[in-house]
Amino acid sequence: MDPADLRRYHRLLLKKQRELSSALGAAQSRVPAAGGWEGDVIDQANADEEAELQIQLHRTDGRLARAIEEALARIRQGTYGVCEVCNRPISKARLEAVPWARHCRECKEREHSAA
Ligand SMILES: [Zn+2]
Repeated sequence: MDPADLRRYHRLLLKKQRELSSALGAAQSRVPAAGGWEGDVIDQANADEEAELQIQLHRTDGRLARAIEEALARIRQGTYGVCEVCNRPISKARLEAVPWARHCRECKEREHSAA
């Protein structure tokens, strides 16, 4: 891969990683402290709902954060931008949109149709 492209994707990944960690930090600060809602049933229910929402957010963002870290590792190892399934280069358009992509579009679509 062109080193200039690689640097660009590296920057995109770092930028997304920063966005994600600040989003996670904000979510954490919104989760009420355990025990802080005792004595008020309605508030407790709302707090539970809110906490559940934040947990779901965490799960999604956690997966993405991991995918980004793996992509950064592949850049270090020199295997970035190559499909893990068919070993063909992933298209620039796809990396542009999803810089942490591990599979080319064809393999990704095949995975979807199999599931
Ligand atoms: Zn592929």
